[in-house]
Amino acid sequence: MRAWVIRAVGGLDQLEIADIPDPAGPLAARQVRIALRAAALNRLDLFVVRGLSHEYRYPHILGADGAGEVESVGAEVRSIRPGDRVMINPGIPDYTCPYCRAGEQSLCLNYGILGEHRPGTLAQYVVVPEQNTAIIPTLAPSLTWAEGAAFSLVTLTAWRMVVTRAQVRPGETVLVWGIGGGVSLAAMRIAKLQGARVIVTSSSDAKLAEAQQLGADVTLNHKTQKISQEVRALTHKRGADVVIENVGEATWDESLRSLGRGGRLVSCGATTGPKVGFDMRRLFWYQWNIMGSTMGNDAEYREIVRLLGTGELRPIVDRVFPFAEARAAFERLERGEQLGKIAIEIGS
Ligand SMILES: [Zn+2]
Repeated sequence: MRAWVIRAVGGLDQLEIADIPDPAGPLAARQVRIALRAAALNRLDLFVVRGLSHEYRYPHILGADGAGEVESVGAEVRSIRPGDRVMINPGIPDYTCPYCRAGEQSLCLNYGILGEHRPGTLAQYVVVPEQNTAIIPTLAPSLTWAEGAAFSLVTLTAWRMVVTRAQVRPGETVLVWGIGGGVSLAAMRIAKLQGARVIVTSSSDAKLAEAQQLGADVTLNHKTQKISQEVRALTHKRGADVVIENVGEATWDESLRSLGRGGRLVSCGATTGPKVGFDMRRLFWYQWNIMGSTMGNDAEYREIVRLLGTGELRPIVDRVFPFAEARAAFERLERGEQLGKIAIEIGS
């Protein structure tokens, strides 16, 4: 099959379109083989190309997010059939460890993400557990393959951050950094669904204008404005109830300065670097909750798919590239030009 792979880590020069053996052979009882029709990129894909700490098996197929048509299913698969149009939850647990049995799949001892720890979705076929698929809901107009591919990773990640971890309530003020990023945009929309007032930041006024169209209550340019001062001014000096972080070193101090008494900070990433510090006295005196979050569990995934079916949370696709031009898609992501998801069509 055709796939976008790397054979060594480094820059985007390592990206290569290749013919590699497809995942044929007998499926395990609850596995599903999917003919992919679209993939979507995440910042994670750039980190994978640059090199992560675990061993890769080369050629390594990239891509976490994907959607496609079920081609064949294992003997015990009951929820889907060949021909079904499905989206893929890219977080693959073992479904056997104590965390999985407790329903917390993203805490799994053997958790792996497609395109990071396992062969990814920038390929003609992928094999995943039945539990990691969801039938694409029927909407009017119909969801495209690109929209289906764009949905899972960022929506699931943002849902767990905003709803499960931060437990955002109506009327609260939520600060979301870097609205161009897929998780940030999904977090803004989910926080709005929860009834919060959402302040978003970007270094691009054009992106801020788009974010306002998409429901942001307040937009701030973090290049030209001091975010914590603005947040204090917007909240009668109280500060934000919740800060949604995935930037790390570059925003950490300002995140804490923006956080009000009893505030919750949730982080799912450290794009600009992982080493941060803080004054313990502020932590206990202001009674902050500082939380981590990764992907989401199966119940959360089912809930976001249900909401998608009601017309909420329809993915925002920035641009769709043909399969042969996936490298240009990676370059657009690396330059940070997008607002919404960058998708790649995969022909049959
Ligand atoms: Zn597990």
